Amino acid sequence: MDLFEYQARDILEKHGVPVLGGIVATTPEQAREAAEKLGGGTVVVKAQVKTGGRGKAGGVKLAHSPEEAQARAAEILGMDIKGHTVHRVMIAEGAKIAEEYYFSVLLDRANRRYLAMASVEGGMEIEQLAVERPEALARVAVDPIAGIDEAKAAEIVQQAGFAAEVADDVAAVIRKLWEVYDQEDATLVEVNPLVRTEGGAIIALDAKVTLDENAAFRHPDHAELEDRAAADPLEAKAKELDLNYVKLDGEVGIIGNGAGLVMSTLDVVAYAGEQHGVKPANFLDIGGGANAEVMANGLDVIIGDQQVRAVFVNVFGGITACDEVANGIVKALEILGDKETKPLVVRLDGNNVDEGRRILAEANHPMVTLVGSMDDAAAKAAELAAAK
Ligand code: GDP
Ligand code: MN
Repeated sequence: MDLFEYQARDILEKHGVPVLGGIVATTPEQAREAAEKLGGGTVVVKAQVKTGGRGKAGGVKLAHSPEEAQARAAEILGMDIKGHTVHRVMIAEGAKIAEEYYFSVLLDRANRRYLAMASVEGGMEIEQLAVERPEALARVAVDPIAGIDEAKAAEIVQQAGFAAEVADDVAAVIRKLWEVYDQEDATLVEVNPLVRTEGGAIIALDAKVTLDENAAFRHPDHAELEDRAAADPLEAKAKELDLNYVKLDGEVGIIGNGAGLVMSTLDVVAYAGEQHGVKPANFLDIGGGANAEVMANGLDVIIGDQQVRAVFVNVFGGITACDEVANGIVKALEILGDKETKPLVVRLDGNNVDEGRRILAEANHPMVTLVGSMDDAAAKAAELAAAK
């Protein structure tokens, strides 16, 4: 989960990283009030969108008075930055910048390490720096167990070529940023720019934090950081129902039990769909239990997808036998009642398959087609999705 800058700023502050005052505003009037609260002096009005390069796009502007902050906020609110509409701005205390640096720590999957990157040439887009002057960007591997201790921080600072006067202070801030990364279970903490002010203080002026959702169970407080307004409504509903659902761009809804089976179902549907010009509409793994309620919830979410024209239910009976799954499907259709208006192609196999097929045949639901093999079922579902 990517955080907004103001959320990242608050998390940094909580861990003792030096940041400047910042207040979120959703209207120009709130922006003026925020600027007043920050002392009435120079502030920066910053678009809160989850994309970089806001400065270049005109989404970061200085304002020398609360009135000016209001005017700048009026310009920035509603702006489109790389496809993101600005609904909020952060009014941040202005800093007198002497130098701009760069620091980040992120997950390096390929090397099974964390990677710290630092540069004394911050501010600009780091991708550009990495391409144009790679020698100006220090890249230091971080052992996940050891983390960034005093020695590692000193190594990073030394490799990046920080001047002796600031080296210790920067190293101290880097260790605090590591604390954020480690204790919040982040996969990215990036500060660009990390600045030295004219007064000599080292301050994180911009922050990008990505939290690892797999660690959400350890952080009940992270739930409120979620941007519900921006989430896909179907994905949000699926999440509420505790379903493992990912919306895709297609016409064939997919339900399966087990992530591996669902992945291969996506493949066969994508293949079968080529002929008919249709694609899988989603990933949905209802897991091993697959009872009637879970099946009904899953179907409900998929049918709610306007794009979906047919649904492929692909279940392999294991611990939960096919007869239970078949009963689950029959009950789910009862629960949904008139809501169920899209054709369902069901393929059942595995433990107790004969009884499962018998139950479905007996129920003889008008929307359900029972197909024997996975490939044939995928072809049928694609055909139905294209036909309607
Ligand atoms: P980004 O473009 O999305 O990365 O947004 P940043 O928050 O990094 O801001 C872009 C640039 O605006 C920074 O690199 C600074 O040069 C400038 N900036 C941001 N905050 C301040 C501030 O408080 N004072 C001054 N003078 N410049 C700032
Ligand atoms: Mn930045």
